[in-house]
Order: sequence, then structure tokens, then C-alpha cells
Amino acid sequence: MKNREVARILYEVASLLELEDVPFKPRAYQRAARSVEACSTPVEELAEGDRLRELPDVGKAIGEKIQEIVRTGSLRYHQELKAKLPVDLFELTRVQGVGAKTAKQLYEALGVRNLLDLERAAKEGRIREVPGMGAKTERRILKGLAEARGTDRRELLWYAMTAMELLRRALEDSGLFAQLSAAGSLRRGVETVGDLDLLGVSERPEKASRFFACLPEVEEVLMQGPKRTSVKLAGGLQVDLRIVPASSYGAALQYFTGSKAHNIRLRERAGARGMKLNEYALTDAEDRVVAGKDEEGVYRELGLLWIPPELREDQGEIQAAERHELPQLVERSEIVGDLHVHTDWSDGTADLESMTEAARVEGLAYIAVTDHFRFSTTVGGVNTDELLRQVDAIGELNESSAGVRVLAGIEANIQRNGDLDVPARVLRRLDIVIASVHSHFRLSSAEMTRRLERVMDNELVDVLGHPTGRLIGERPPYDADWDEVFYRAAKTGTALEVNANPQRLDLGAPLVRRALEAGARLMLGSDAHATDHIRFLEIGVRTARRGWAEAKHVLNTLPVDALLATRKRGGRE
Ligand SMILES: [Zn+2]
Ligand SMILES: [Zn+2]
Repeated sequence: MKNREVARILYEVASLLELEDVPFKPRAYQRAARSVEACSTPVEELAEGDRLRELPDVGKAIGEKIQEIVRTGSLRYHQELKAKLPVDLFELTRVQGVGAKTAKQLYEALGVRNLLDLERAAKEGRIREVPGMGAKTERRILKGLAEARGTDRRELLWYAMTAMELLRRALEDSGLFAQLSAAGSLRRGVETVGDLDLLGVSERPEKASRFFACLPEVEEVLMQGPKRTSVKLAGGLQVDLRIVPASSYGAALQYFTGSKAHNIRLRERAGARGMKLNEYALTDAEDRVVAGKDEEGVYRELGLLWIPPELREDQGEIQAAERHELPQLVERSEIVGDLHVHTDWSDGTADLESMTEAARVEGLAYIAVTDHFRFSTTVGGVNTDELLRQVDAIGELNESSAGVRVLAGIEANIQRNGDLDVPARVLRRLDIVIASVHSHFRLSSAEMTRRLERVMDNELVDVLGHPTGRLIGERPPYDADWDEVFYRAAKTGTALEVNANPQRLDLGAPLVRRALEAGARLMLGSDAHATDHIRFLEIGVRTARRGWAEAKHVLNTLPVDALLATRKRGGRE
């Protein structure tokens, strides 16, 4: 065990004691932690030689605690304290503006347990709602978060989109822009975004760029001018606004949307035809402008259909556009149901009725309630009795309301051997069964592949949930032979989820495409744990589009009865 890990436990003990208003002890633990952290000899070595007392600020009592950590890998005293406040205090208190007391308050008011929760709460504007905190605290926390994680981090697509929407609405409402669009990787729907690109046309570019630089969301102006303005938002995200003449808008939009690889192919194509393409226009050999004011014109004059931004990765889209064989990409408006929704029966924050109402507001015709099955002792999930009671509650809800149809489902856990943890007789009572890996992530590729194949062979399993288990920026996908998995999904008629949670987007776009090539079908799920989260479907659609998915590939474009008829066990019983 590394000194840093031992110190981390001691630091956390210090914070927890501080919260309990214990006198003196917090400081003692803090000093001991610092001493362990600063020591160049591994504490294990010191513990073995009974030399812990050599460490400055480590007395008998704390010395014994360190012995216990070295021996057992954890500290009972720490765990007892932590049981009362199960949050990652160490990480949270590293953020400027968050002390132990703030962390406790945030946990009690908003359920914030770790940095990711903190970031979400801050970005969703929920911290300002906590009594005694306000918008100023929220801004300070956002800034602290940006600093804590450095400047080079990329933003998750959902949060980049949310920020972009706010800016775009403000700019549009100003009346200063004749045309305005997002460009860059955000427009292509890439799962993480480095910075935001905006492109506009304005008759008053000076005034328009000043207006932009003065928006309340802007924390810092990096440069400002009538052609280009760069700013930083409170969360650390950089935004570039370029204002171009109307005659160049299409060429600029094409250019700044990228990708680089796609643009290189396009310029080569222009060159081969004796033309030149840049951010201002497409011109012919005599330097006459052939196209530039809209994107369609640029592609048309190059002998191509207009290519949706999600496909612009030089992955065969130019050839497809030339042969008029571009896919008819699935649209958000074609998604009529959400098949992965949690409620407060497990770890969701809203009840059944609220989630159903949220789905109605989103324009959906049906949702599947797929709570966790006894997820773990800390997070909690439904047990068999609760699940059966939920099925009855859903039945009653469907009878009393004529609006959104609610399907009874479950997100069952796939055990190490590929079996589910829910009895088959219970699964038969449900409309839809999602099976997900929530444990034993680190198997060999062969073992994981067998595990996933075995669960898909189960005729009661309709969907493989978040198939690769990755968490963007946090956890890589687990090892498996994905082509084998996709082939088995196609063969058994098991749908593969495109989980739309911002940090998952799982399957990701490249694997979506391979899954479709194997003949598998997709299911889009928001994995909502709150009413707001149903809107995540939008980025699930973007990801499916980047994987060349059409409506016919996606189960939840079907009306509910047709959907149920696709199950391996057939239609309704
Ligand atoms: Zn899950
Ligand atoms: Zn889930």
C-alpha cells in the first residue's frame, strides 16, 4: 500500500472528525497524514520494523491505526465514521471552495458523493438552490472544479451541448445575428468536446461580438474583435465565436465543423476537379466562386450529397455520398419510447408517476421502468417482492392514465458466470428485461465474451445494457471479443443498448457501426435516474447516428405492440 493511500485515509478521518466537532483530534490526524505523505520510505517498511514512531507527528494511537491500515488495507475506525457520511471527502475537499462542512451539506441536500456528482449538481444549477449557498458559491465551485482537474480536460458532450444552448439562445434573442450555428466536434456529436465553436453572420459584427463577450456566462475574455472572439466560461470551457460574411457562411461552417480527416479528403477532391476549397469559398480554376453561402452548395458542386455532420470522419461517407448511398440516419423525433428508466423504487430520485409525466413532456409514447435488482447493500435495489408489487403498481397506473404507456421491466445484474440474479419465474412477469454487468469487470477477454454470450442465450433477456461498461474519462471498456458478442446478439435477437447517460454513451459510435454490420439491433436508453435525464436520449441518438444507425435498426422507434412482438419469447402473454 502506497504512502499516498494511507495518507488519504488519515486525511479523511480528519475531515470526518472535524464534522463531528471533535476537538484537537482532526488536527492530529491531518498532521500525521501529511507526515506519511511526505515520507520517502514506504510506511510498510516502517511498520514492519516497528519504526512508525520515527515519523514526525505520529504518536502511539495513530501509529497503531497505521499498523492496521498496512495490515488489513483499511481502517475500521475510518469506516465507522464514514458510514455516517458515505462520500469521497478526500476528493471533494480538494476542490477550492468545498470544505468538509460544505461537502456534508451538499450530500444531505443533493446526494453529492463524489467529484462527478458535484460537477453535475453545479452545472445543473442545483447548488444555488441549497439554503445558504447561492449562485456565488456555485460559481466558485465550478471554478474550483476546473482548476482541480487542469485545463486540458475535454467536456462531456451533454454538458457542452447544454452550455452551447444557453449561449445560442442568448445570441439569437439579441437580434444581432442573421445566421448562427454551432460548429466543431459538438456539431458532429463527438462524445467529448475540447472547446465550443460558434459561427455567425451579422450586419453589425462589432456590436455582436461585444454582446457575446458581455454575456453573464462569460468568465474571462481571451480576445475580442469583429471577426473572432474567444472567451472562457465559468466551468473552464473555451468558446470561439467567428463572424463571417453571408457569402462565406456555408464554406466556413463546413470548414469549422471538420473533422480534419474529412476536410482533407474534401480538399483533395476539389483539387482533383481543378477547384480550391477553403473556409471562404469553393472556387474554380479562374478563381471564380462556385459555392460558399451554404454547405449544401459546397457538397453539391463537389458532386456529393450533403453529408450529415455526424458522419464526417472519413469513414467511407464521401464514397457513400458520391453514390447516393448515405444512410437515412435515425432522428430524435423517431424515438417514441425510453426503455431504460429508474425510479425511487431503486436508486432514482423521482417516483413512478413523475417519471411517466416527464416522458409525456418529452413527447414519448411509452417508457420501460427498469429499476436495479438489489444492486448492492449500499445503493439498494428492488427485491423480488418489491418488484412484483411494482408490476402491480404499473398495471394500475396504466389503467388510470390514458397517456404514456409504462412497461414493467428490470435491470438485472449479470453474474460472473453469465446467469442473472433474478429468478426466471419473476422475469416472465415482466415486459422487458435489461441485463447489465455491474460487477466483475476485470475478467479475461475470453471469459467476459463467454459471460455475455451466455446471458444473451437466455430467452428472457431482451437487451444487453451498457454493453462495454466504460465510463468516459474514468473507466475503459472491459475486455471482450466484441465482434463475437455482436454476432451472438444478432443470432439470438438480443438488442444492444446505446446507453445515453453522458458519461457512458455505451455502445460508442465505432462499436455501434460494427454491431450493425454484424446484424444486431439497437435499443436506446436514457438510464434516467431523475426526471431531467430522459432528455439524455438526444445524445444517444447522436451517438447512434455517428455509428450510421437508421430508424429500422433501433427498437424504440417501434410502436409498443410491435416492440413487444420482437422479443425472443414473443408478444404479450
Ligand atoms: Zn446499469
Ligand atoms: Zn440503469
